[in-house]
Amino acid sequence: MAPRLVLATHNAHKIVELRAILAPALPGLHPEAVVGARDVGAPEPVEDGVTFAENALLKARALAAFTGLPAVADDSGLAVDVLGGAPGIFSARWAGRHGDDQANLDLLLAQLADIAPEHRGARFTCAAALVTPDGLEHVEVGHLVGTLAAAPRGANGFGYDPVLVPSGYTRTCAELTPTEKNAISHRGQAFRALVPAVVGVLGR
Ligand code: IMP
Repeated sequence: MAPRLVLATHNAHKIVELRAILAPALPGLHPEAVVGARDVGAPEPVEDGVTFAENALLKARALAAFTGLPAVADDSGLAVDVLGGAPGIFSARWAGRHGDDQANLDLLLAQLADIAPEHRGARFTCAAALVTPDGLEHVEVGHLVGTLAAAPRGANGFGYDPVLVPSGYTRTCAELTPTEKNAISHRGQAFRALVPAVVGVLGR
């Protein structure tokens, strides 16, 4: 099975998620035709963009150039109103060490300890980018708006999920089932919005 679309992630879960989102729109696309960056031995580029969209684009560009295939990448994070949009693109390393979810969460809660519930607005944002080797570029952005709880709740998800309560919900993202979260998430929205562009490229 020759790969037809490559996804700029080392996270197997995201590949499964994108395959599931693409399947209804591209019934002829074999799941194994959608592969991850690790499957094709691609190096990870330096993420030196200053917006989610720039970082998603630079990851997709690097992968399209390396593989000669259409590439999809995403970049995401948490923006807190009272912090002026931080941690933003620094979400994964807010406490200093990349990917230390617990330390990031502890630091954020300490920073907001004295902030009243009505001022604890925040959102997850995800930019999803499609880049083809011949230079087509397309970006879609999704948001999940909510407020930050005073203490973590729930065991599902990752990152800041235990503190973000989506608007209209009383549970945190970590108390939602994966299906519930995917239906409303920033990442789900961005990827679903990208599907027509992917269909346009793979359907050619
Ligand atoms: P990345 O785009 O997968 O590198 O995610 C960047 C960082 O943003 C993660 O390490 C998390 O800290 C945070 N983040 C992004 N999306 C989510 C989410 O859906 N739930 C919780 N945290 C998230």
